[in-house]
Amino acid sequence: MLFQVEGWKLKNDKKIALGGVKDKKKKNKNKDKKKERSGDEQHSVGHKDAQHDHEEQPAKSKKGDKTKQRDDGVDTHEEASLKDKKKRKRDAAESDSITHKRAKAIKQVASNTTTPKAPVEPVPPVPVTTQTKLTPLQQKMMSKLSGSRFRWINEQLYTITSEEALKLIKEQPSLFDEYHEGFKSQVSSWPENPVDVFVKQFETRLLSRNINAPGGLPGTRDKKIVVADMGCGEAQFSADVTKFVQQQRKKSKKYKNLDVEVHSFDLKKQNDRITVADIKNVPLEDESATIVIFCLALMGTNFLDFIKEAYRILQPRGELWIAEIKSRFSEKQTGKGGNDEFEQEDAENSTVGKEFVDALKLCGFFHKSTDNSNKMFTRFEFFKPPQDIIDERRAKLERKRRFIEEESEKEKLENKREVKPEGQWLLKPCIYKRR
Ligand code: SAH
Repeated sequence: MLFQVEGWKLKNDKKIALGGVKDKKKKNKNKDKKKERSGDEQHSVGHKDAQHDHEEQPAKSKKGDKTKQRDDGVDTHEEASLKDKKKRKRDAAESDSITHKRAKAIKQVASNTTTPKAPVEPVPPVPVTTQTKLTPLQQKMMSKLSGSRFRWINEQLYTITSEEALKLIKEQPSLFDEYHEGFKSQVSSWPENPVDVFVKQFETRLLSRNINAPGGLPGTRDKKIVVADMGCGEAQFSADVTKFVQQQRKKSKKYKNLDVEVHSFDLKKQNDRITVADIKNVPLEDESATIVIFCLALMGTNFLDFIKEAYRILQPRGELWIAEIKSRFSEKQTGKGGNDEFEQEDAENSTVGKEFVDALKLCGFFHKSTDNSNKMFTRFEFFKPPQDIIDERRAKLERKRRFIEEESEKEKLENKREVKPEGQWLLKPCIYKRR
């Protein structure tokens, strides 16, 4: 019964993302139920339990009615039909009250699955583990439920624009918590967390080379490192790097004046390190950052807008670090399309993300490296070329008469984006499979 929540059915996804499922009028209830059921059949991924629970109840009571009619065979036809009418009335009233009770229970347990019309104080997220005393069966159901909800929210974030995502999380902030609960559990099953890889890279490069020296981290003229972590989640990068910088300052004279600033942006202010912003438009000045990171954060269907925003805020020679799930690259289709099973082909294949790299080049970035050594994600490094390199390259292209060609490639990319958002072809949505 707990599963009879419309929000979990993919059929209604769009409605929920854009302002919630409207309450259905009672007189249309049966019609709507029928519709929903056929919707379930089409979009049942990850919602089979819900569907079963939803359907079995009415089916059983129907069968029960029939048996009873056969047992009451001694009644006259009229008596029988009178009784039948009364019974139907009783049943209807009963089922109404059951529906009412269910709805109440769902509200209490599953909280804000349906979107409130106006932004109201959100109900806290579903407590899946502790606090509430649940029987083992209930616990199992709740964890299944939270898994389905994670997959649902995940799919939403990959199939809507960034503006819609910001609106969705503003209206239902608890979706963010539920998402991250599931996300953490997914990532914990991977051999490596990409955030840790980025932190390690930051530390190694800081310690092994001087800031702004070849191979060293890029900084401002006065060697300040300014990082923008776009779609930071719970801002782990900021927490880890800040801690590391503090240690280094204490530890060695060389780093006494080490100056590192990390800006962490996401859809919800989960902690003090985070600034709420749609990463297509962050509150940073032009050319004010020296490193921009997207760690599994290119989620909106318009993610090339995020890349353009990175270009805007990066200073020349500033670096762009990206990690994305391997199965998102069209060149690297996994057989069954899952990310949580290690189905990837040869990890060393250098064509991974070629189309993606080409698109970023058309946004103005220079490609430094692609690292495919990790099983689950690919890492890319780009940098924003300074004006002299841009001019040099342009002259070279003109000499080869290829400049016009590149300009038309840019135009082609923009035209293609208009017809279909890049989230539908350049990077595929990352859909997690049901375990
Ligand atoms: N970088 C973190 C979190 C990755 S999950 C890590 O690797 O641990 C992806 C994050 O991107 C989510 O927290 C999601 O809320 C955020 N996100 C997606 N679209 C966004 C947008 N348009 N603006 C800001 N954050 C966004």
